[in-house]
Amino acid sequence: MKVTFLGTGTSQGIPVIGSTHPVCLSENPKDKRLRVSVLIEWERYTYVIDCGPDFRQQMLNTKCSRLDGVIFTHEHADHTAGLDDIRPFYFKQGDIPIYAHNRVLKALKDRFAYIFETENKYAGAPGVTPIRIENKPFQIGNLTVEPINGMHYKLQVFGFRFNDFAYLTDMKTIKDEEIEKLKGVKVLVVNALRETEHISHFNLEEALALITIIKPERAYLTHISHMLGFHDEVEKKLPKNVFLAYDNLQINI
Ligand SMILES: [Zn+2]
Repeated sequence: MKVTFLGTGTSQGIPVIGSTHPVCLSENPKDKRLRVSVLIEWERYTYVIDCGPDFRQQMLNTKCSRLDGVIFTHEHADHTAGLDDIRPFYFKQGDIPIYAHNRVLKALKDRFAYIFETENKYAGAPGVTPIRIENKPFQIGNLTVEPINGMHYKLQVFGFRFNDFAYLTDMKTIKDEEIEKLKGVKVLVVNALRETEHISHFNLEEALALITIIKPERAYLTHISHMLGFHDEVEKKLPKNVFLAYDNLQINI
């Protein structure tokens, strides 16, 4: 499986509009972070996890020409606002499967009512096949996905395990039985916002503590705020099997 980090930034992205913070002004491409998403590819299959406001640019950056589906972690705008831009895939392939918790599907129906319209639908609107997921394994292509339930303050979010690879974002708390499902994973991606505590996201210390429990061979941090610091400086402080993800990083699992 090949995983491409399409975006590794927190909700506003880095740079933040109008910001004069040194990290926002950095010229290092690793300090420029689009909204968080990954592209996962294996055999003939291609899926994305989340579809935020930078989705179009991300699909252009990776030259992605075919998409088998979108898997959503939760409904916040930095994870969903780009749904309209699945149109080029829809025009070529037909309805695009979207996998999400029932609550997230309802939120998408409210925000993108025209996409879910059944009567007099505008011909230029995209189409989706909504697939409701619960906290039990589901199938994408020829692969079984294990959802990992977590909390983003008071909002339920799903992480996902794909055999040796797991992706968690926007988590602040995760129950022991869910952590159990991550044991034995080789590559773990987990959100780490900044060093100071935050009400709805792991900070660096909490992310590293979770990595210590799960013990993957390698871990990558994502959903990063400019407040975490410069990529190159933060990475020097991390344990040797933990890396800061950056946009367009590709890893093979
Ligand atoms: Zn987010």
